[in-house]
Amino acid sequence: MAVRKVITLNDERLRQKAKKVKQFTPALKQLAEDMLETMRANQGVGLAGPQIGVMQRIFVAEIPASRSGTDEPHPQSGTSYILINPEIIQSADVLVEGREGCLSIPTWYGLVERPEWVEVRAQDLNGKKIKLKVDDLLARIFQHELDHLNGVLFIDHIKDREKLWQVLPEEETKEMTETAV
Ligand SMILES: [Zn+2]
Repeated sequence: MAVRKVITLNDERLRQKAKKVKQFTPALKQLAEDMLETMRANQGVGLAGPQIGVMQRIFVAEIPASRSGTDEPHPQSGTSYILINPEIIQSADVLVEGREGCLSIPTWYGLVERPEWVEVRAQDLNGKKIKLKVDDLLARIFQHELDHLNGVLFIDHIKDREKLWQVLPEEETKEMTETAV
């Protein structure tokens, strides 16, 4: 396994559309492992292929089970997800606003409105079709990562400049970094 370099805003690849995965090879499994390791090394809760310069439709997500301090673990924590060729097939009419950050836009956070749940169709590492319905934080992460596969960033959803702010590393709390995807 290897931690890959996360590319940032100035890299054009973040604005390109990723290509469908067609071959379910050992190399794809290796890529997924590297993505999980890279996400964890950066205290992220999600990571999409383009963020490490891999222009394929794959993302990983995981809310850590344990946090420092006395916080209760998030109810959706402890499961790691690897989604290949994901598509949203249904989503809630109700939008909810929540805080987001992005490993590719370090130190910036914003409030983004998104459907409160989504149903996603995807493939697993063996190419098997899977369907998942997620809500709350996972729904937000999945939508953020799916955007990355289409060259869209969370800042694109923010029209009101007051809903976007910068937190310098020394002011960052654990809670804030946990919303970075
Ligand atoms: Zn991101």
